[in-house]
Amino acid sequence: MKEERIGLFGGTFNPIHSGHLRAAEIVQKRLDLDKVLFIPSYIPPHKNSAKIASPAHRMKMVELALHSHPHFIPSSIEVDAEERSYSIITLGKIKKLYPNSRIFFILGIDAFLEIDTWKNHEQVLEQCFFVVISRPGFRLEEAEAVVQGISREIMCELSKSENINDDMLRTRRIFLVPIDALYIASTNIREKIKRGESIQKMVPDEVDAYIQRNNLYQS
Ligand code: ATP
Ligand code: MG
Repeated sequence: MKEERIGLFGGTFNPIHSGHLRAAEIVQKRLDLDKVLFIPSYIPPHKNSAKIASPAHRMKMVELALHSHPHFIPSSIEVDAEERSYSIITLGKIKKLYPNSRIFFILGIDAFLEIDTWKNHEQVLEQCFFVVISRPGFRLEEAEAVVQGISREIMCELSKSENINDDMLRTRRIFLVPIDALYIASTNIREKIKRGESIQKMVPDEVDAYIQRNNLYQS
């Protein structure tokens, strides 16, 4: 039987937006992932300035956004832990939950460039596959500088139409995947809300309505 392929897409999701969804849709198709888990990070309430919505609000918005996507699953694994989220810990928990699966950690190049600030990042890099996607303002090639310590050979950049096959999975672990990413960031969304501007089309309608109903990001 074919091993299940599971994508992990973590983030603050403050709030989740169409750029996240679009990126995950492309990766899900190109890697033929059976599921993509969206994992909002827990950020302790005392850190919650007006800028970071509570874990419960961010979780709820992820649930609303994923409602109609058959392959996308909201995961409260970090939010429920109620302590600062470390990828190494989350990955360990996911591997226990899905012992016979191939795990693909999905993240934007902006996030990948900061990987050396993660706790035990070498171990994280060894323990699952990575799918690094492009984002406006960053070049995918910059990823090479990050993995200087480990073998460059495990990294491979896909062309626009190429899919990842089993052969590649035997020899490579980090895949750079160019996508036509949307020029949307949660930061811009929060700024727009503060200025009283519409965020229509930047987030799913249900998320827009939720933000308005709960007066999020107003001040
Ligand atoms: P903020 O501006 O608050 O940092 P963000 O839009 O960067 O928000 P995050 O929650 O920080 O969103 O990102 C979660 C993950 O999604 C990261 O790996 C990030 O690189 C990726 N990502 C965010 N926006 C996009 C986008 N428009 N296209 C592709 N990937 C994205
Ligand atoms: Mg970000």
